[in-house]
Amino acid sequence: MDYDELYDRAEEKISETVDEERFEVPEPETMQEGEKTIIKNFSKIADKLRRPEEHMMNFLRRELGVPGSVEGSRAVFQGRITERKVSDKVSQYVDDFVICPACEKVDTELVEEERIKKIKCEACGAKQAVRQF
Ligand SMILES: [Zn+2]
Repeated sequence: MDYDELYDRAEEKISETVDEERFEVPEPETMQEGEKTIIKNFSKIADKLRRPEEHMMNFLRRELGVPGSVEGSRAVFQGRITERKVSDKVSQYVDDFVICPACEKVDTELVEEERIKKIKCEACGAKQAVRQF
């Protein structure tokens, strides 16, 4: 086996692992409308993450520190927020409320028990309280 072949094999292995383990966080598509910032694909993101729109909206309002609301399939925030910041916050949401803290898989759901929201993992069975709001 020559070097190129070895290299190809190594590369194949790496991309296989990445495909299996990496969850692609949906990239928010934002636009500015006057003094408002809009996430055009808000519903799609919530759908993909399998989280209630209202929960994700509450989180973003809090994190971005501005009023906002869901309008149709879009999220509308008061004020100009950079695309980078919106995207960082969506990633943070995924880290805090979607990825299982025990096994790091994304096959999870948000459940509520005695008024405490918890992340419940369908892959490993872990259940853990999340930040409440
Ligand atoms: Zn898990």
